[in-house]
Amino acid sequence: MILRNRTKPILLKKLDAALPRLPRKFKHRNKLEAEFARRYKGYIGEIKVDGYIHSYFAKNFTILHDVTLKIDSTEIQIDSILISPHAIYILEIKNYNDKIIFNTNLNTFTRDSGEIVTGFRHPISQAESHKFNLMRFLSELGYHDVPVHFFVAVSEPSTVIQVIGDEKAIAKMVSHGEHIPKKIIALEQRYENASNSRINHRKIGEAILGKCYDFDFNILGKYGVNWSSIMPGVHCPACGHLGMERIHSNWKCKQCNRLSKVAHIKTLSDYLLLIKPWITNKECMRFLNINSRNVVTRILKASNLEYDLKKRRWFKR
Ligand SMILES: [Zn+2]
Repeated sequence: MILRNRTKPILLKKLDAALPRLPRKFKHRNKLEAEFARRYKGYIGEIKVDGYIHSYFAKNFTILHDVTLKIDSTEIQIDSILISPHAIYILEIKNYNDKIIFNTNLNTFTRDSGEIVTGFRHPISQAESHKFNLMRFLSELGYHDVPVHFFVAVSEPSTVIQVIGDEKAIAKMVSHGEHIPKKIIALEQRYENASNSRINHRKIGEAILGKCYDFDFNILGKYGVNWSSIMPGVHCPACGHLGMERIHSNWKCKQCNRLSKVAHIKTLSDYLLLIKPWITNKECMRFLNINSRNVVTRILKASNLEYDLKKRRWFKR
């Protein structure tokens, strides 16, 4: 079963919400757009690989996606963890456009951009280090002898994977996402034949789930975006224009005349994501551009937000 589903990552949500709220000529707009495009492609690639994995293993394995764990002071992010009755399989999912090259003689990896990486940035080293960290984590929970395997899954079927040197060694660890199930099935067969002792995959999955959280950091701050760079206002759901007006109980777009009753819902969620995890009535008046305190109170009461009486502010349940 799928114990932890993949959802749109917080960082992607932040970039997505921030871009239409930054001035057109914002200094680092290009970099932010590139970061968004890169992360979005990565996310789509992960979903693609999930499809192959689910069709084979969702029934009999315990599966967790997008797992972030803190082990001592090291934070690790694992794209997917599959737990079978015999072993654990870690997937590091990578998205590349053109050709990538593994050189086993020099222990280097050449990205599709032509950049050569070594050491910790090498995708195999990354996956391998996740393996050792996860083993350490499991051992702290009392699971000492669970075998852990890792794979680098290349999400785009059109990416050319070239190997200079030991092709077999690379093929053991790296392949296109669609071929990963075959590799896992082969290993499972070996465990079956060896009649190794079985593990309680559900229990291990729940132990991991209990310690994992959503990965997040101030990605916007990295590009000089702070709360004052974020433009307030309600976006028109039809044409994207920022600054709908509240007329009676509707939002009206000056640009395309579209009326909406719910356009402010996205605005409130943008605020909670980009500015602060709560909002006061006064802040809400400014951000939605509404002059009436009563109207804002009515809107907030009808939203799915909860009111903190002591702090006099609204927050997400
Ligand atoms: Zn409009």
